[in-house]
Amino acid sequence: MAITVLRLGHRPARDKRISTHVGLVARAFGADNLFYSGLKDSSLEDSIHGVARQWGGSFGVAHVRDWRALIRDWKGKSVHLTMYGMPLQKRMGQIRKVSDLLIVVGGEKVPPDVYRMADWNVSITSQPHSEVAGLAVFLHEYFQGRELEKKYMGARKRVIPQARGKRLV
Ligand code: SAM
Repeated sequence: MAITVLRLGHRPARDKRISTHVGLVARAFGADNLFYSGLKDSSLEDSIHGVARQWGGSFGVAHVRDWRALIRDWKGKSVHLTMYGMPLQKRMGQIRKVSDLLIVVGGEKVPPDVYRMADWNVSITSQPHSEVAGLAVFLHEYFQGRELEKKYMGARKRVIPQARGKRLV
């Protein structure tokens, strides 16, 4: 079972921070891989790889030129997060049955064919917010909180939780 995130329409000059956050949230909340479309950005890939090297696990990130082909040829099912979709809570039961899930999040403008190509269009509230928030809530609901206990193999750094202050080993 794998969970992959596709972030559409990355523009290095404007989206570096938010696309990095999509990748970090995907990794920290239990997804396995990130694909991104738009312009290839080695520094985005390096930032996410750098975090994965330090903090463990096997999260992958790669640029995809033809995102339509990725969705079309996906061997599992795809879910597009959009404020216009059906409420998450009405679709999660079906979505959890899928073994290879592709979660699609947009950027500033989402091409209209995404709505047709995705198996599900799902909203996390019908209010406008952000791909980072949408992804975090989706994964938290998908894993029903189990992602909060996830262990990251091969980590060079680990936080020892403290009531106050910081402890890293
Ligand atoms: N106006 C854009 C559009 O065409 O849909 C949305 C831009 S929004 C800043 C960027 C992304 O955040 C969206 O493509 C979607 O993936 C996510 N998003 C924003 N609000 C959402 C919501 N209520 N539910 C699910 N995803 C949401």
